Amino acid sequence: MEQVLHIVGGGMAGSEAAWQAANMGVRVVIHEMRPKVGTFAHRSGHFAEMVCSNSFRSDDDERNAVGLLHWEMRAAGGLIMAMAEAHRLPAGGALAVDRDPFAAAVTEKLLAHPLISTSFEEVTELPSDGHWIIATGPLTSGTLAEAIRAETGAEALAFFDAIAPIVYAESVDMSVAWMQSRYDKGETVEEQTAYMNCPMDKAQYEAFIDALLAAEKTEFHEGETAGYFDGCLPIEVMAERGRETLRFGPMKPVGLTNAHRPDVKAYAVVQLRRDNKLGTLFNMVGFQTKMKYGAQTAVFKMIPGLENASFARLGGIHRNTFLNSPTLLDDQMRLKSKPHIRFAGQVTGVEGYVESAAMGLLAGRMAAAEILGRDLPPPPPETASGALITHITGGAEAKTFQPMNVNFGLFPPIEAKGGRRGRKDRYKAYTDRAKAAFTAWLS
Ligand SMILES: Cc1cc2nc3c(=O)[nH]c(=O)nc-3n(C[C@H](O)[C@H](O)[C@H](O)COP(=O)(O)OP(=O)(O)OC[C@H]3O[C@@H](n4cnc5c(N)ncnc54)[C@H](O)[C@@H]3O)c2cc1C
Repeated sequence: MEQVLHIVGGGMAGSEAAWQAANMGVRVVIHEMRPKVGTFAHRSGHFAEMVCSNSFRSDDDERNAVGLLHWEMRAAGGLIMAMAEAHRLPAGGALAVDRDPFAAAVTEKLLAHPLISTSFEEVTELPSDGHWIIATGPLTSGTLAEAIRAETGAEALAFFDAIAPIVYAESVDMSVAWMQSRYDKGETVEEQTAYMNCPMDKAQYEAFIDALLAAEKTEFHEGETAGYFDGCLPIEVMAERGRETLRFGPMKPVGLTNAHRPDVKAYAVVQLRRDNKLGTLFNMVGFQTKMKYGAQTAVFKMIPGLENASFARLGGIHRNTFLNSPTLLDDQMRLKSKPHIRFAGQVTGVEGYVESAAMGLLAGRMAAAEILGRDLPPPPPETASGALITHITGGAEAKTFQPMNVNFGLFPPIEAKGGRRGRKDRYKAYTDRAKAAFTAWLS
């Protein structure tokens, strides 16, 4: 009997997954709850609706990781990229699109495909058999989310993210910062020196608090309740509760000795913790924030040691349903406990339209290959899509897992000259290596 691939959610990921699988010759049913059941962010019944900005970000495939992801998706015959190109708006180096005709065009292409059919109903349970991809996104409906939670456990499915900024390790000034865990805790030297520490004196701390309080903040979207939990309050909210709150919270200086100036006790310390196995990325511990991006960069560069920091990702707090993928999914994006179900898109803990569509592309191809009895390994980690899937299915620290967008910190490092010029050359080396590896994977 012909095997069918069921895809739940016709967003960025579900649309791309359906297109890829159908083009490999597999029959697909897309289950989409809109327009019958809406979300607070979607406005139409179209597939692949862009719920907020109309940008797919940088289109530079030579020196930018998201531009490289565009390139890979184009090389794989991606529908989202093709329709974005067809409805492109002038936006300098960015790929901005005319959102309504874009979504209408994706919908038209999927509805016209002879192997794709649709069911406009909400899926409320996890299916017990068949081949499934769940791509229901950050606003997965409540009933389905509860069913997923019942399967994965409450700790493994989050309803809000609390993203602390992530910096490239190489951009931290280690003549100011030093490596040490609080009270040198840990059995091994690696554990005793797990954190980067950035010290502040009193004047620096007071100026930092003033800047935090004055910085521009983003508001929650309408319909997004501000569900802060006391364990992950935005740092500016902590600062509003009292000027000393941070010094007794995430910035407490106790148990740390400045390796460069052991005789000087820091008034406050910002700690950064390793964010990936490669050790290329470090997150700012406890620094989840709703400050606007521009304000974040300005305020965080006031921290001694971070004056020239490069940010792989800035902070944020959003309504966002996502799995603890590093513990739950295998490298084929299958739920380990129910391998007939794959997950794709933002619900797997990637962030953004492009990353979600890219994970849909991989899930669609992998599911179709499985149905066709073929073996399809994930793309190698040297590629943008391979770096992302490697990160979410195992490269990320599971305990502190938060959604991730694509960036060069996820790639196996390449040695190259330092400085600004060196960095540009290195990014070009990353993208050259990725293109060759992705082309080989495709063939
Ligand atoms: C308010 C908000 C603003 C955002 N702004 C941006 C931005 O500016 N730029 C950016 O890159 N990203 C933004 N994002 C993230 C964005 O949602 C994702 O990048 C992208 O849309 C995720 O793609 P996806 O396919 O995983 O999910 P979606 O595109 O959301 O698609 C999921 C689909 O599943 C459907 N669905 C949900 N539950 C069920 C169910 N039980 N049964 C059937 N269908 C179901 C939904 O109706 C939806 O069509 C934003 C997210 C939110 C919530």
